[in-house]
Amino acid sequence: CGIVGYVGSQVASDRPLDVVLEGLRRLEYRGYDSAGVALVSPEGTLATAKKAGKLANLVEELDLRPLPVSTAAIGHTRWATHGGPTDVNAHPHVAGKLAVIHNGIVENFASLKAGLEADGVRFTSETDTEVAAQLIARAYETTGDLTSAMASVARTLHGTFTLLAVHEDAPDVVVGARHDSPLVVGIGDGENFLGSDVAAFISHTREALELGQDQVVTITPTAVTVTDFDGQPAQARRYTVDWDAAA
Ligand code: GLU
Repeated sequence: CGIVGYVGSQVASDRPLDVVLEGLRRLEYRGYDSAGVALVSPEGTLATAKKAGKLANLVEELDLRPLPVSTAAIGHTRWATHGGPTDVNAHPHVAGKLAVIHNGIVENFASLKAGLEADGVRFTSETDTEVAAQLIARAYETTGDLTSAMASVARTLHGTFTLLAVHEDAPDVVVGARHDSPLVVGIGDGENFLGSDVAAFISHTREALELGQDQVVTITPTAVTVTDFDGQPAQARRYTVDWDAAA
């Protein structure tokens, strides 16, 4: 039930993971049954860790099996709707060189999954989310562009979603999309943030962009780009967060 994304210009540091774990802690109040992170190193290596249960379980896993330092990171807390609260069903879901996290429900996942399985795609989890991951990975193979891959898949999904994706080919990019589920951008200096709620990044920046319905956002350390699901430039509302949640 929480989503955090981060990308920064400090080459290969612990900051992406630290920011994402702190953001997940600040979103814990929303409730969850599993947690996970995906990191991309500057050399383009994707690494993930995910555990059922409390965030402490994920942190313990990261202590036992540290992930490489990174430039981009995404983090998720899950409230299971499709597939029980297990390590395998926890997010991120990996498809090839891509990792995806998702809050919400993909209502038409069964028919999409059947189509992919008929094409020989093997699924490892019982989630609706893994279908989105596979579709975005395939779209990326066609377009070579993570933003347009996200937009084209978002057009085909029914239900509610906040989705974030990272890809090995783009170590300093995080792409997100939303439909009937919130997604907010935090604007930093040489770094940018994504959250399902401003609480995710409030200790780092109060400059925010609230994405509108059916928008796709692409963040790099120095740029934030917003489009609609057709890939056309779109406007999101910019504001300064004025409530005191940093305590
Ligand atoms: N429907 C997805 C799942 O069950 C996401 C649930 C959520 O919002 O955390 O894995």
